[in-house]
Amino acid sequence: MSSTRFLAIENILNAQQPHTEFASTQSGTELYNSLVFDEKAKKKYLIKQAYESLLQAVELGEPIDRKNADFIANGMKNWALDNGATYFTHWFQPLTGKTAEKHDSFFEVFPFSEPVNELSGKALIQQEPDASSFPSGGLRSTSAARGYSVWDPSCPAFIMEIGMGKTLCIPAIFISYTGEALDLKTPLLKSTAFLERASKEVCQYFDSSVERTYINLGWEQEYFAVDEGLFNARPDLVLCGRTLFGSPSARGQQFEDHYFGTIPRRVFNFMIELEQEALKLGIPIKTRHNEVAPTQFEFAPHFELVNIAADHNQLLMDIMDRIARKHKLRVLLHEKPYNGINGSGKHNNWSISNDKGENLLEPGNDPLNNLQFLTFYINIVKSIHEYADVLRASIANVGNEHRLGANEAPPAIISVFSGEFLRSIIDDFLHDRTTSQKQVSSIAINIAKISEVQIDSTDRNRTSPFPFTGNKFEFRAVGSSVNVSNPMTVLNTMVGDQLVQFKNEVDSLVSGGLEVNTAIKQVLRRYIKEAEPILFDGDNYSNEWIEEAERRGLSNIKTTAEALQVYLRKEVMELFSRNNILSERELKARYNAFLEEYIKKLELEAVLCVELAQMHYVPAAITHQNTLLENYKSLKEIGLVSQAEVVKPQIEKISFHISAIMKLSIDIESILLSADSIHDEYQKALLCAKEIKPKIEEIRFNVDSLESVVSDILWPFPKYRELLFIQ
Ligand code: ADP
Ligand code: MG
Repeated sequence: MSSTRFLAIENILNAQQPHTEFASTQSGTELYNSLVFDEKAKKKYLIKQAYESLLQAVELGEPIDRKNADFIANGMKNWALDNGATYFTHWFQPLTGKTAEKHDSFFEVFPFSEPVNELSGKALIQQEPDASSFPSGGLRSTSAARGYSVWDPSCPAFIMEIGMGKTLCIPAIFISYTGEALDLKTPLLKSTAFLERASKEVCQYFDSSVERTYINLGWEQEYFAVDEGLFNARPDLVLCGRTLFGSPSARGQQFEDHYFGTIPRRVFNFMIELEQEALKLGIPIKTRHNEVAPTQFEFAPHFELVNIAADHNQLLMDIMDRIARKHKLRVLLHEKPYNGINGSGKHNNWSISNDKGENLLEPGNDPLNNLQFLTFYINIVKSIHEYADVLRASIANVGNEHRLGANEAPPAIISVFSGEFLRSIIDDFLHDRTTSQKQVSSIAINIAKISEVQIDSTDRNRTSPFPFTGNKFEFRAVGSSVNVSNPMTVLNTMVGDQLVQFKNEVDSLVSGGLEVNTAIKQVLRRYIKEAEPILFDGDNYSNEWIEEAERRGLSNIKTTAEALQVYLRKEVMELFSRNNILSERELKARYNAFLEEYIKKLELEAVLCVELAQMHYVPAAITHQNTLLENYKSLKEIGLVSQAEVVKPQIEKISFHISAIMKLSIDIESILLSADSIHDEYQKALLCAKEIKPKIEEIRFNVDSLESVVSDILWPFPKYRELLFIQ
């Protein structure tokens, strides 16, 4: 029987034309928001009173009363029915990092009357999915299953088309019977409102007429694409999302020719369909390109309000998976699907703006005299310095553990890149000098017909986990598979807390008689000095930086378990509780849920690694070894003794790796067994990181070594060169 590996390859070679019937002739502007209950739909389907109450809720956070909720529900239902939806669901984001739905039909039958389609205000506002099927981190005992999903009017409802069914999805938060958060969205909304308030108050130092600020996020989603047949032939990709085995392909990314190269046709079709679907759902996708590694790509939308951007990223990850399947592809969102080549991240471009249309992080032409810019920039840097470990905790997960510090990924040391120009401005500000620096704003190319190039105020630093990129910060260390809500909640909270502290300090200096601007400058100058160690413009991938960071006293928390434990520090719990983002209980629950996820995923990798090694790789190696043994014996029989001796070292090599794998498998099984009796989850996670993970790597080393000697015909699963280069 030929293996699924060869069948998959054969299928690709015989492939029919790729699926193209999807292509819509409508333009982006026509498609945009066509499946969203947007302003236009609201105006058309809601009576004035309901429309205004919804607007107040979105803009000012005002509650919606029951009567208006009934009107809104009715309008939303009519819009959904007109667009072919027959079911509705609350759409929420449990601690798994995925999205959850429970569909109900609009269809209702009442006694003595005709059936109707209905959505009541009550059903719009509140649903009761069984909370016991979602992780709670100990907030809820299994018997106390009650949990509520509650409509979040700040994110627009949309229609999800899957196959023949269309469902009205109503974004919601998810809380327990006791009102504690069971999801990632609730604290995101709270932290966003908190940072909006804190930044507005600071903004009013510079313009008292500012009434609102906004927190913006533009994410860049990196991913790998792989042929579906090859994917299905790799049990590790199917079950763990990453390759547990695979020796490097002779061709990897050494030619550096993939980045911005031409996009393969099948992937290109997938991208076009995805963009069309994304636009319909209101996700303003703007950029598509190849990334550095072979078969690695990226999508990026235009930035949006952080809560909406978070919904849209979840939605995008969802439809990426669905649409990829239509093109017989699979997307890999894992942070490190392949060893030896780049992993994937999700760069979070983050900024604060105000209701005057100003970006508070825009340095303008004269940053040294732009006190508003300096205030926000320096406060953010100060908060990163203060709470670097919490920011590190916010990106800790099993996948990112492979990526942080590995190929082309920021290290686990948090630092901020500001660029030479800004550094000198800050230096001038610190020493109260007028600037010697003039910003270079264009470069003359000196070729006729080629225009002058406008250049940015900072260069790029791809190695920094948290660079300032001209007029925003780019949190680059976030993992590609995660829900951005958690890192954004942490960032919003840290910065909000810092701004509150700043305002208190300035106000107290002012009440002591100091002029406002003088007080602001005095506090900022102190902050710069305190936060100085977090600023680093050099190569974050270098070994020198690791040593230098240690001298500066910066943390380098390598494992997920240790990073997550930061949430339990007293000052961190206080940070979240004093700002009403998460109570101590809620934060502890999150820690438990994240730790549990880490343990479960590593245990799964360990079990699968042993299973694949013993049931697939070792038998293939033994078959090959037997052929060699036959060959050895036969050569000797016919008197070719010296030729037979050449075969012997290969037999020895195979035996060596097989016995190593056998021994390591037994080790892993016994460690897994001992893990069962550890009740302290933190200790268990450490055991996973420090004992199980290295053993998985060792088995991998032995299997990968076999891959380079065992006959290709016998090798059971697709190799790296097939996964990465057959398209
Ligand atoms: P890169 O060159 O880093 O790949 P891209 O232009 O592809 O950058 O994407 C940058 C992302 O940053 C986009 O999502 C873009 O909308 C977003 N962005 C741009 N300006 C801001 C801003 N002021 N605040 C937040 N995000 C922004
Ligand atoms: Mg990018």
